[in-house]
Amino acid sequence: FVSVGMLFDPLSVVREPWPFAATLFVIVVGKSLAALLIVVLFRHPMATALMISASLAQIGEFSFILAELGVALNLLPKAGRDLILAGAIFSIMLNPLVFAVVDWLTARLEMPQTASPTAATAEPIPVTDLQDHTILVGYGRVGSIVGDALHQRNAPFLAVEASDDMVAKLKQRGIEALMGNAARASVLRATNPAGARSLVIAIPEAFEAGQIVEQARAANAGIQIIARAHSDAEVDHLKGLGADIVIMGEREIARGMIEELDRGHAAVGTQHAPAAREDSAA
Ligand code: AMP
Repeated sequence: FVSVGMLFDPLSVVREPWPFAATLFVIVVGKSLAALLIVVLFRHPMATALMISASLAQIGEFSFILAELGVALNLLPKAGRDLILAGAIFSIMLNPLVFAVVDWLTARLEMPQTASPTAATAEPIPVTDLQDHTILVGYGRVGSIVGDALHQRNAPFLAVEASDDMVAKLKQRGIEALMGNAARASVLRATNPAGARSLVIAIPEAFEAGQIVEQARAANAGIQIIARAHSDAEVDHLKGLGADIVIMGEREIARGMIEELDRGHAAVGTQHAPAAREDSAA
């Protein structure tokens, strides 16, 4: 990176200001606009689109390698490589500024954005009427099994899900569901953790789970918190923040396998047992 950067001739910027300005424009504005359009076309929120375009408003060392290759293969004049180097260096320098502009724009767009489901969490969310209930965070592979069991038992519970599709499905089934990221204070507050009996965190991400544990424990010292983890470190992390029980998925899978092995061996044993009896009878 440094050695290729040393090939940069600073005077090329002064010698050829317009080609340099055009290169910088393509990198900072052109590339970002293309990224913005793609992200918006995929129906992601404008704040996400702006953040991604800011992240792409520069070029890095890979462009140096391509430029060098282009020159070596006689596909690119040396002047082209200098422009790319200048564009890379200046676009990297400008990047913090681009992020500052995006932050400012995102703050200004906050008002219209609140109409979108992801920004809805910025509005005060009405707190559930449930008391002595279970809060279930995540209704995926793990949470749906827990939630369906609670639903069958008619136990009072409320699900928090980041997926609006899932929330719509749960509501259709008559299950109280809240759309949003449970790690956000406004979302978690709406689940009434202070009045809840238990909290089941069935999401795979331990960092977010930790934030949820911390806030729920602060709101209710007596709430039972059961969380999900995927490593010993995550178990320690979540317990350290106040979870009562942390179930590590991988360990439970291994336990299930061992149980099946034992059951299989026992079955083989019982299959052999009558044979032995037959032998002895014979
Ligand atoms: P799975 O890994 O299949 O159990 O799915 C996890 C579920 O949790 C998915 O349906 C996600 O949409 C949901 N989820 C993940 N993180 C959060 C969060 N912070 N708040 C609410 N729901 C979440």
